Formats: sequence, C-alpha cells, structure tokens
Amino acid sequence: MFRHILAIACLFGSLGAGTGETVYDPGACEGRCEHPIAYTLDPQFNADERRVIGEAMRVWERGSGARVCFAPGGDDLVIEKLDRSEQLRAFDPDWPQHVALTRGGRIWIVAARIDDEGEYRGLIVHELGHYLGIGHIEDTAQTYMHSTINDTPVDLWKHARLPPRDGRAFCEVRRCTCAL
Ligand SMILES: [Zn+2]
Repeated sequence: MFRHILAIACLFGSLGAGTGETVYDPGACEGRCEHPIAYTLDPQFNADERRVIGEAMRVWERGSGARVCFAPGGDDLVIEKLDRSEQLRAFDPDWPQHVALTRGGRIWIVAARIDDEGEYRGLIVHELGHYLGIGHIEDTAQTYMHSTINDTPVDLWKHARLPPRDGRAFCEVRRCTCAL
C-alpha cells in the first residue's frame, strides 16, 4: 500500500541535540518532577486521543528518569487538535506536508492525517521532544526524532519506550549526566 511521506514541522528555536560531551551541570539539571509541565488538551480530543497523548507523556517521564513530569491544568503546554493541515498555514510555510507543529508552548496535531494509534503516539512523543528543546536526530534508526515520521521504527510505534539516543539528547539539552 502506498504510504505518503509526511514530514513533521519543527519551527522551534533549535537547541540541537549534538554529539556527546560532558553535560553535567547541577545548577541546570532538574531533579525528579522538580518543575512539572502544566498542560491543557484541546477539548476536541476524544478519549482515545487523550489516552494516547498521556502514554506519550509517560514515555518522556520514564525515559528521562522523571526529570520530565507532566501535570494537567495549566498553560506551560497547550496541545491543540486541527482537522486539516491547511489550518497550519498561518504558522507554517510548509504546511501541506505537515501533520504537526510545535512552537513555543504549543503543539498542533492534524488528527485527520494519522490513522495508526502507535504512529499517533510516536508523533506526540516526537513533538513533545521538540517542546523539550530537542532537534531532529538522524544518526541512528532508534529515535522518535526523525524529521520524517515514516522513518520511526515500527517497534517504537508498538512499544512506547524512549530509546537511549533520545534520552541522551534530553540530557544534553538539560545539561544532565546521562545515566538514565
Ligand atoms: Zn520534528
């Protein structure tokens, strides 16, 4: 079956996810659930979508050793549901190719273009990665951060677990030791 290639929009100030070096900085690296990310979901998300978004959040919580924590009820992060890519037009010049966008404290998801639950969860994990400051990663297959959603390995769709490479990228951005 024909599968279209869908890039994922990434218009955030890229901090990059560079190659490894010492990233330990106790002043910058947060402890477990030190600053929960208070989030709000668009009321248009249905129960299944909310559950999958919650699962994607757990991927980062577990994968970061709880340095990332999400808590409902706030606007640190607002996730909105769109029906059509066209609705990204105002924010994103490459909108026809995109199924999601993360910018600042907002993530937009074009729900109608995603038809597999694991893919949906993988997409949310990807966008949450951008929200956390992580750029695209192409030096390994085992990452949720490929620039094209089709490159995400199927086992990462099926088994929602943060690969070590993505955990390392998080540590680099947050200047943590990477002993996850
Ligand atoms: Zn992206």
